[in-house]
Amino acid sequence: MSTTGQLDNLTTMISKVLIANRGEIALRVILACKEMGLKTVAVHSEADRDSLHVRYADEDVCIGPPPSRQSYLSISSIIAAAEITGADAIHPGYGFLAENAHFAEISNECGLKFIGPTPEAIRLMGDKAKARETAKMAGVPILPGSDGPVKTFGEAADIAREIGYPVILKAAAGGGGRGMRICGAEADLQGALETARSEAERAFGSADVYVEKYLERPRHIEIQVFGDTAGRIVSLGERECTIQRRHQKLIEESPSPAISHELRQQMGSAAVRLCQMVHYVNAGTIEFLFQDGQFYFMEMNTRIQVEHPVTEEVTGIDLVKEQIRVADGLPLTVPNGDFHLRGHAMEFRINAEDPVTFAPHPGRIREFHCPGGPGVRVDTAAYRDYVIPPHYDSMIAKLIVKGKTREETMARGRRALELFIIEGVKTSIPLHRAILDDPRFIRGDLSTRFMEEFEW
Ligand code: ADP
Repeated sequence: MSTTGQLDNLTTMISKVLIANRGEIALRVILACKEMGLKTVAVHSEADRDSLHVRYADEDVCIGPPPSRQSYLSISSIIAAAEITGADAIHPGYGFLAENAHFAEISNECGLKFIGPTPEAIRLMGDKAKARETAKMAGVPILPGSDGPVKTFGEAADIAREIGYPVILKAAAGGGGRGMRICGAEADLQGALETARSEAERAFGSADVYVEKYLERPRHIEIQVFGDTAGRIVSLGERECTIQRRHQKLIEESPSPAISHELRQQMGSAAVRLCQMVHYVNAGTIEFLFQDGQFYFMEMNTRIQVEHPVTEEVTGIDLVKEQIRVADGLPLTVPNGDFHLRGHAMEFRINAEDPVTFAPHPGRIREFHCPGGPGVRVDTAAYRDYVIPPHYDSMIAKLIVKGKTREETMARGRRALELFIIEGVKTSIPLHRAILDDPRFIRGDLSTRFMEEFEW
């Protein structure tokens, strides 16, 4: 009775969680479960036998060969693993099956609590065109564009002429920065539409494409939301994720240097309105583009995000524990009242890749030493002699730094990146160090074009 873990456990019905994921997020979920006194089951592919999530979980099950399709994306193998081990809940992490409504549905049908939103909410918000319509109905600002997917070239051309070029064509089922095509003039529209359609069909199994105004120099600012089964929905401030390359986030921070307390409240209440519309439960993120003082809904992610630690650092809320509690029908522990972020946090995604060409660089990590000291957190599943398999994404660590001010946070970032030792594979550490010395980054003068214009 003496530890918080045991007390937490007394209040949850869930007692054993299967983590349908790998790498740092699988470890992150294991940490939360351990603190709550819950048992854990790791699943892994044949390529991940020596992974830390396998070592740290109470039980582990091999679910197939290295390719994700035959392992981490295999619903039947994962459900079988849960049944064999007697797990009573599944945490999907991010990526893989996290936003697969069918997986959530099957888990629930098999009596396994899916630690995430309802299949209905995943399905509705996973279709970006439908999510746009829902946002519009909730009175959340959206960018000018088509109502739903465009059926013909003529329809796309009419809309583009009306809203003005440049426009962006987006796959309704898109994700991970894929399935988007920017089009600057009508002469290019036919080609762009055809390519976008066939790419969408190939990548996502649906050729539905919609049209949206393309903003030239926006910031990407997202709101963390959380709902519980009693219908309470809260917003937990923003994350600025403007530093991207090829539409993939590299650095995230909270609060955003561009957002005032008033704007935070406005964006937060817009995000909550949208979630209320779909009776949203569990953790979610509403992504906005922000330009010239205006914010526009872009999409919703119905899962925990890679960048959730920056929110944890400035709110003091353990989002993963909160996810498990909410999945168990317990109320959110977030206090009521006016919401303030404390201090500043930044996350640097450390990928095993060439920092210049961004080509992945899997292989053996010969030397590995994580920085520590005040305000430093490293979420990673890597270690010395770990062999990074070539089958999965290239992120090997997240360095999260926290300070009283943005300046102190950046100073800690510089110090921690300098002391981070990873040898044997190329990493994005030198790139992050260069960004932290860039005058525009230091001023907080950011746009999603930052990396295109960045010289080092
Ligand atoms: P995904 O789901 O694939 O991540 P998003 O819709 O979240 O795609 O968009 C990813 C990124 O693409 C955004 O962060 C932004 O940089 C860029 N983007 C998307 N829509 C627009 C737009 N209308 N104007 C300008 N940039 C955009």
